[in-house]
Amino acid sequence: MRIWLDGGLQDIESARVSVFDHGLTVGDGIFETVKAVDGRPFALTRHLDRLTRSARGLGLPEPDHDEVRRACAAVIEANPMPLGRLRITYTGGHGPLGSDRGEHGPTLVVALGETTRRPDATAVITVPWTRNERGALTGLKTTSYAENVVALARAHQHGASEALFGNTVGQLCEGTGSNVFVVLDGEIHTPPLASGCLAGITRALAIEWTDAKETDLPLEVLERAEEVFLTSTLRDVQAVHRVDERELPGSAGPVTAKAMRIFDERSGDDLDP
Ligand code: PLP
Repeated sequence: MRIWLDGGLQDIESARVSVFDHGLTVGDGIFETVKAVDGRPFALTRHLDRLTRSARGLGLPEPDHDEVRRACAAVIEANPMPLGRLRITYTGGHGPLGSDRGEHGPTLVVALGETTRRPDATAVITVPWTRNERGALTGLKTTSYAENVVALARAHQHGASEALFGNTVGQLCEGTGSNVFVVLDGEIHTPPLASGCLAGITRALAIEWTDAKETDLPLEVLERAEEVFLTSTLRDVQAVHRVDERELPGSAGPVTAKAMRIFDERSGDDLDP
């Protein structure tokens, strides 16, 4: 396996990052997970734009898009696989913390792992912890993921693959690594970005392609929604068949099944050539 680090390809066995890198010590880093289908990254421009927004939010120097593109292409070429997940990690390095990071700043790592298509339907749980819709990190895709890891562990204990958060004012927000959509009276709704959720790239495409509405939704909407589905880079559109103890009918209701079909048909257009 060859990865990108320090401006070039390296063998994963010998690649080294400082033990003082702030991405490791304090979670001072950002990342993107990009799907690579038959060696072609999906929606890479959107991922690079979000990487830049996250960098600005965290006070990191803006990443050089040309370098990240070159890194992705080189890693994909060096590790051929039918369905891959590119992980772009960009950290503060090991200079001084804060806005002036000196010469030891940023570290860019691009690695590729093999993945498989996710099941069409999954179970989710809700968790009692809240997303902060007004925090310093709200909406940024940072490497500070420990809260998500705790929630995901609870989901796994309950036979579910995802945990959903409400925000501090009791509204539905998002999952640990996905955005959430509900069907009410046959119409698709998803929480707005002001709920504190990440601006998911799959979310944006799903809104565009299905005319879903961004609506403030109380967390309890999950007790009455006709259908629920998740979106994320690695899930695409995935139906939810159980929320906590509530079973939803079938593996994917008609509205979700249509959204999945539309996504499958249209997502070929967003692959980089
Ligand atoms: N919300 C969170 C917290 C995430 O980490 C992710 C993806 O990792 C998403 C939503 C979905 O975003 P995307 O569709 O860009 O993968």
